[in-house]
Amino acid sequence: TLLPLRTRAVLRMTGARLYASSSAPTTKLFIDGRTVESQATEWIDVHNPATNEVVTRVPKSTQAEMQAAVDAAKAAFSTWSETTILTRQQVMFKFQQLIKENMSELAKNITTEQGKTLVDAEGDVLRGLQVVEHCCSITSLQLGETMAGIAKDMDTSTFRLPLGVTAGITPFNFPAMIPLWMFPMAAVCGNTCIMKPSERDPGATMMLVEMATEAGLPDGVVNVIHGQHDAVNFICDNPDIKAISFVGSDQAGQYIYERGSKNGKRVQSNMGAKNHGVIMPDANKENTLNQLCGAAFGAAGQRCMALSTAVFVGEAREWIPELIERAKQLKVNAGDQPGADLGPLISPEAKQRVCDLVQSGVDQGAELLLDGRDIKVPGYENGNFVGPTVLHKVDPNMKCYEEEIFGPVLVSMEVDTLDDALEVINSNPYGNGTAIFTTNGATARKFTQAVDVGQVGVNVPIPVPLPMFSFTGSRGSFRGDTNFYGKAGIQFYTQIKTVTSLWKESDVSHTRAAVAMPV
Ligand code: NAD
Repeated sequence: TLLPLRTRAVLRMTGARLYASSSAPTTKLFIDGRTVESQATEWIDVHNPATNEVVTRVPKSTQAEMQAAVDAAKAAFSTWSETTILTRQQVMFKFQQLIKENMSELAKNITTEQGKTLVDAEGDVLRGLQVVEHCCSITSLQLGETMAGIAKDMDTSTFRLPLGVTAGITPFNFPAMIPLWMFPMAAVCGNTCIMKPSERDPGATMMLVEMATEAGLPDGVVNVIHGQHDAVNFICDNPDIKAISFVGSDQAGQYIYERGSKNGKRVQSNMGAKNHGVIMPDANKENTLNQLCGAAFGAAGQRCMALSTAVFVGEAREWIPELIERAKQLKVNAGDQPGADLGPLISPEAKQRVCDLVQSGVDQGAELLLDGRDIKVPGYENGNFVGPTVLHKVDPNMKCYEEEIFGPVLVSMEVDTLDDALEVINSNPYGNGTAIFTTNGATARKFTQAVDVGQVGVNVPIPVPLPMFSFTGSRGSFRGDTNFYGKAGIQFYTQIKTVTSLWKESDVSHTRAAVAMPV
């Protein structure tokens, strides 16, 4: 599994580096079981979103470094894919234990680099940990099928076998959960992996791969490269990479799906969203308004499953003033401050984009019932904060409805009937998540059957399935045909081999060759 000595020598040339623009520590590469200082000439600053101070610098990996990662993964595959399934299972048991032990350190890193509150950051880790726990069931999950006696003395078996080197490209908004959807699933099936975390918050991925290595993943089974377009193009084009898992925006996801597929790779691509919450007048008002607030404004709206559009049906529209009162009570602060409900947005550019989309709504005739754009957070005046914002009477033709806002902005509309709500949702190109709030079973059933969205909640605002199921966003929110984690995740990371055997007890030989198709 060792890299050529020359490559290792190049990678070991670390030493202290000084940078003209910043003395912040650098984020390392992780290649062949070791952290490695990059020889990159271009670096990206990572800022704490609450202060905009530089916390680390991320390299744009060189072509040689990315090739070294693939060489390490390719070499490791030949032995890791032959390692027994019980050994791979044991690594996952130990890995899940290490994640639990390091939960608060991981959460602190996420809050520093990504901005979300510490409690929410622990949730980010926990939802990924659940995938690792599910990987511990690999002894059942990777079972094949058998059929005895498909012909006289003849049996058929299928085996689910790993693919080879796989790659994962992740977004900024869940720096622990989403990498954990990828490399543990890939590795436990016997694959090796190259991770390319978001260049905006790579720290959690680095911590997690180091823990996985401590848990027993052999050198080269998981590697981390950094960068942006060049790293993504490298992954899409490298012939030794057999499959790509991507989560992020539409623009990147469609591009990666097309370029990776064109090069003969499997690609699963989870992309953007516009999730609608339907509020029926018979819903439990107290629960519904609280859940709506949590799902619209939690994580500052930077969740692909955020309920970013509220559709009030009939008399439920009378609850809107109460919703505004609850939204006003949410506390906006740096994520590590006690009592914070919402942290900052990821960058000043993200804040500007959110504010511009809110303004476009106002300009196109929506009612701005709550405006969080000018919020000031004492002690964090440089942070990228936006407070809860509500745009009401939004029309589907408005830009603030057409685009994913990805901020703490609830877009709200009124309709007369459930059918009208379904018409709005099913006309939207995205299909990630949706929820209905009602106390009527028949209404709920009608909605769940008629709505053309991949993940549906009934009185559950963010219906992200646990890992025994799969993450099943659909339509414009997904490209590919095999979803993340659960049974579908195992299918994605394995290929099927079918073996048909003939074992006769007494060998009665044919007198001449049979040339017709065997039946
Ligand atoms: P992003 O697309 O900007 O970045 C994701 C990854 O792609 C990063 O690693 C980045 O380096 C790379 N990338 C960015 N632009 C690229 C380009 N033009 N070409 C090639 N690669 C590129 O996404 P983000 O801003 O980090 O994340 C937010 C988005 O992710 C939102 O749209 C959100 O809905 C989506 N998301 C979806 C899910 C889901 O499961 N459907 C989950 C989380 C986030």
